Amino acid sequence: MSIVAVVDTGVNINHFDLRSNLWRNPGEIAGNNIDDDGNGVIDDVHGLDVITGSGISSVGDPEGHGTHVAGIVATTSKNAEIMGIRILNDNGGGSLSSAIEAFSYALVNGATVINNSYGALGVNPSQVDFLQEAIRIGEEDYNVVFVAAAGNEAANTDQIPNTPSNAEGMFSVGASTSVGNPASFSNFGATTVDLFAPGVDILSADTFSTNGRKRLSGTSMASPVVAGAAAILQDLSPGASVADIKAKLMDGSIPQKNLQGLAVTGGVLSNDFTGSFTQPLESTVSTKGNKRKKKSSKKNKSIGSVGSLSKKSFDKIICVLDKPTQSEKMDIWNDLMDQDFTKNVEWPEAFGDRICILNLRNRYQSGPESRSAIKMMRRSNHFESVERDRKILVNTGLNSFSTSLDRIDVSLSPFDLILPSQGDGLI
Ligand code: CA
Repeated sequence: MSIVAVVDTGVNINHFDLRSNLWRNPGEIAGNNIDDDGNGVIDDVHGLDVITGSGISSVGDPEGHGTHVAGIVATTSKNAEIMGIRILNDNGGGSLSSAIEAFSYALVNGATVINNSYGALGVNPSQVDFLQEAIRIGEEDYNVVFVAAAGNEAANTDQIPNTPSNAEGMFSVGASTSVGNPASFSNFGATTVDLFAPGVDILSADTFSTNGRKRLSGTSMASPVVAGAAAILQDLSPGASVADIKAKLMDGSIPQKNLQGLAVTGGVLSNDFTGSFTQPLESTVSTKGNKRKKKSSKKNKSIGSVGSLSKKSFDKIICVLDKPTQSEKMDIWNDLMDQDFTKNVEWPEAFGDRICILNLRNRYQSGPESRSAIKMMRRSNHFESVERDRKILVNTGLNSFSTSLDRIDVSLSPFDLILPSQGDGLI
């Protein structure tokens, strides 16, 4: 049976729409306050709250976004099991090290699809290559399909990158209207968005009422329709590879005239999966001509350069290693633990020998000290890359969208981006 990890603001496990679809950790006994399966988390019966380090509890989703997303997965795929993983707090704040932990938990606990309805426009995935590495390992070693929202800035992601949807291996989903047009807010990209799925006025679970529902719009809503479709395809073809599943999603899409040049397929996800959210669509593209429109530029908002060198402090550094042997890993561990700036080092299980997260001691968490720690680590030549952790925040979209779009993506805060600086050339 397919398991869809919803990496988001959490999941309200008491919602009626989700109850029969919740993943159940087979090794955990609910409510006994014991880590029965020894995975480091007490009572993680339905998933993990990365922020508190405990199992997804009855509070589950104090923000609401994740419950709505999970409801869309469950509505699309009646058999999918939802694994809730909370990385964003009720103010919408979180960090990419939490996403790495979320992926690791999802992979080792058997997720077959991971949905990512959050993102950061203007961030190139190569700037966060530990994320790229995590996706690659998930695909290759765990056969997991990663799906992400393309973002809600009406931007061309071929020109302005979006993370994580632009990451290699991530299946990127734009939002379409009920008649197969691009939603006004949806990002697009002839090479960087894979296909579109319904994402306007989508009815799904409301976290604040155990049987309530509400309508939201966003690529955040389109992505879980595709995640649910991937889960169905996995159930129909047990053992299918990630490439097989993606090919089926692409091949089944319905070409739409107004989506030509806006996604690799120029179409909307097959009617086989979208019935709960929209009327059936027919192809509106002539099979004879099959002309691809030039990339539309009229919607291409000029975002300009994003981000600025952060002056904020941060407490984690994320490192990618080049397949160390066990003894090399021990040497690296010992080296790191010998450093003044090290509080402790975490090695998320799924990425155990490839990705480590270093927690900095308090006095090294301000800008200059943390940068010198990063420099020192880079000079050690142990790592393929060494990057600071990055904050992610929920963007309510109040500044960008009409009130009908009361919910959009999660974005990296521009104040937390680190771009190459002329000064030291390293950070
Ligand atoms: Ca446990």
